[in-house]
Amino acid sequence: MGEPLIPMTTFAATVHRRRVVDDAVWIYASSSAAVLRLDAVADAVLGAFLDGPKTVDAALAVAAAAPGAAGIPNADLATTLRELVGLGLVRPLGESAPPAPTVPPMPYPLTTLVVNVTNACNLSCTYCYEYGEDRLADRERTDGTARRSTMTVETARESVDFLFANSEGRPEITVTFFGGETLLNWTVIEAAVAHAETRAKAEGRKVNFSLTTNATLLTDAIIDFLVDHTFGINISIDGAAEDHDRHRKFKSGEGSYELILPKIRRLLEKNRARRGRPIGARVTLTRGTKDVRGLFRHLTEEIGFDEVGLAPVTAAKDRDWAFEPSDYHLLVDAFGALADDYVEAASAGRHHGFSNLSDLLRELHTGTNKAHPCGAGLGLLGVSTEGDLGLCHRFVESGEHEIGSISEGIDSEKRAAFLDAGHISKRIDCHGCFARPVCSGGCYHEAYVRTGDASAPNLHACDWIRAWTDIGLSSYARIMAKNPAWFDRHEVST
Ligand code: SF4
Ligand code: SF4
Repeated sequence: MGEPLIPMTTFAATVHRRRVVDDAVWIYASSSAAVLRLDAVADAVLGAFLDGPKTVDAALAVAAAAPGAAGIPNADLATTLRELVGLGLVRPLGESAPPAPTVPPMPYPLTTLVVNVTNACNLSCTYCYEYGEDRLADRERTDGTARRSTMTVETARESVDFLFANSEGRPEITVTFFGGETLLNWTVIEAAVAHAETRAKAEGRKVNFSLTTNATLLTDAIIDFLVDHTFGINISIDGAAEDHDRHRKFKSGEGSYELILPKIRRLLEKNRARRGRPIGARVTLTRGTKDVRGLFRHLTEEIGFDEVGLAPVTAAKDRDWAFEPSDYHLLVDAFGALADDYVEAASAGRHHGFSNLSDLLRELHTGTNKAHPCGAGLGLLGVSTEGDLGLCHRFVESGEHEIGSISEGIDSEKRAAFLDAGHISKRIDCHGCFARPVCSGGCYHEAYVRTGDASAPNLHACDWIRAWTDIGLSSYARIMAKNPAWFDRHEVST
């Protein structure tokens, strides 16, 4: 039953989001990151605090007058209030919120190393941060000499050794190959995989591999290798020819869709035949993308991708292709339509493949409560072609954000300072936001490009992030009501 309530103590509701979905009331409690279904009485008692803090007596009087609590004895309303206090949804005024999760003790073991095997690319995509004005990396070292644009086999092997040495206690680790176009430096990938597998075998650990590619250089031999080594594969593709070729072009200006389509089909076919890991399409959405649902269906139903992840382009404002706050309703409509399709499929026990929603549902279902927006600098680091360490792949070679090198190790002071500055407790603007547990201020790279400060919250995107979280909450409630067993599935449970 909990502590007795003192009638004249003033209580207040904590930050939460209330959604009514198919006549049921669902609450997302920011302090605990729990998603709860409330009955009418609990909803009436919580609702008593909507317009501000109240004493227990005043709150129970307001609750008793609400239709949902009509005829409920005061003692039962008081019990409900105690339960809401226990759930962290109501708290004595002035009592501080439970401390946010703190920065974990250092050195924090890595789980993932993103290895930039090359900075070169055979495409020249309009929006690419690697070549555009939003690139953070310095092409030259501090002494004015040019940096290597491709990684050597030796540096790749040392990167693998660095990951093994800095992931103590992790039974499973991941090497992610990134670029530029990763396949331009294929021999280095093969060598790194062989080395990592030897190390993993010797240490009785598991090493996973993943890679992002524009698919232009896929050959049968490369496909066989990727499938044999159970790579997690993401293909950068922006939809059918019209959407894809608008930005994903060769330097000649020619689009790349026609070249990549047969290669992707072969990859999907071989991967399916050997029951490999799901292969994802990674779509960069720009302001010019019109039919997102059509694009999704093209990639899944016509081409056969297992999953599609949509990422609104990251760019400084004023770029032609960048979304501005006034455009976010376009994203909300598009993501909402795909979420409806997802809910329909999940309710019937069918896979859908909208990976953004699978990710969000997993976070809601498992009660993810982020102290940092992502793993950058925490369990994940990026390594440059020359072996310098960055917070993630987007920060490598950016002098200001370099945090050591694979040969000299992690600069633990810089790492700790960055993690401290990026911690949710420092992002005061986010403290009253219901989406805080899943957002925690958003991508450091985007913040840096927008504001010049990697630890600033991405306040330009709040409307979008909150609307997307709402879509996730409604989808969660609808699937939970129709097919709760869906949440036992691997894609949304771990
Ligand atoms: S950046 Fe905006 S949406 Fe994200 S937690 Fe902060 S206030 Fe909320
Ligand atoms: S900082 Fe941004 S780009 Fe880097 S890992 Fe985090 S979310 Fe991804």
